[in-house]
Amino acid sequence: MLLPMGSIYDLLEQYPDEKACERYFIEKRWPNGVYCPKSDCESSDVYDCHSARRLKMWKCRKCQHKFTVTSGTVMAGTKLPLRKWMIAYHEMGSAKKGISSRHLARKLSIGLRPAWHLGHRIRATMADDSQLFSGTVESDEAYLGGRRRRHGRGYRGNKVAVQTIIKRGQATTRRDRDLARGHEYSKAQTVVLNPTDSVDGRTVGAKLRKHTIPNKTVLMTDESPIYDAVGDVFREHHTVTHKAQQYVKQEDDGHLAHTNTAEGYFGNFKRQVDGTHHHISKRHAQRYAEEHDHKYNHRNKDDTAIAEAAIANMEGKRVKLFKSKASGGDSLLPYAHDEHPDHGTARGAHAAPRRAIRAKRTKRR
Ligand SMILES: [Zn+2]
Repeated sequence: MLLPMGSIYDLLEQYPDEKACERYFIEKRWPNGVYCPKSDCESSDVYDCHSARRLKMWKCRKCQHKFTVTSGTVMAGTKLPLRKWMIAYHEMGSAKKGISSRHLARKLSIGLRPAWHLGHRIRATMADDSQLFSGTVESDEAYLGGRRRRHGRGYRGNKVAVQTIIKRGQATTRRDRDLARGHEYSKAQTVVLNPTDSVDGRTVGAKLRKHTIPNKTVLMTDESPIYDAVGDVFREHHTVTHKAQQYVKQEDDGHLAHTNTAEGYFGNFKRQVDGTHHHISKRHAQRYAEEHDHKYNHRNKDDTAIAEAAIANMEGKRVKLFKSKASGGDSLLPYAHDEHPDHGTARGAHAAPRRAIRAKRTKRR
């Protein structure tokens, strides 16, 4: 019988050592018996190698593949104790506004670099880009990233554009929520718009069409002209004019036009970015959005269930965050050298102005 993680106290009591944690991950990964993780094999004809290694090892009789519980998952090749993985999952699942790499490093007595990797691997298991919405759907964009000095409030050069597509839940007021038992909560799918792309109808429309069934969807947006052409594809398209301080509009056909669900979502997401991470790189912004989506979409469950839903999603999610020459340079994410945490000084965002200041100084001499 597999015990749930429970609170952090329960976790430490129920899983006191590596063996217990290994059993937990084995049970989570293969509830119906161990099978070969090679995608073209998946044979259940495997045997225990009685390996002297840290982790129990099996060998597949069909394809001779040797594997452990971590093979082919985000934990592949990890040197960290599995107990630290469990605690990290618990911490990240229960932190409402996310947790920073430094915080994770201190909690687990590991370095900053492994903590940063650990965090991103856990975020990768929270990713789910398969949402397909119909019904009442809101779409809105926001810009994440701090204000640049001397550039005013509207400056977007250092910001990353994010679009969220939200299927509205059924109950809108607390009274409705109490009345409707088992009602559907609103669900979100957030996508980071490519930083080099301008936010236009084409980019926003492509994401909308990917995650909705247009002829079964009533679209709600603000007055932004980028939705003009996209809106025609949908069964209905309602807008509110935020510029004229209009936030809710009662339509004649009974629909309530607003994007308040999306605004609420961004309110929480921006607090996580500003309050916990202070700065997120454009390249990895999608991972943070996935983490936030995961927590938003599972928010009616308890903390443990949020972590366990991510653990259940580990299979086949190998993440290589760095381009290595040996692997032919193919990685899941492009990675700029100057963003590596080993390089200490976070250049990138501020590199250009610093260089400009230096040039000025030399000129004066
Ligand atoms: Zn096999």
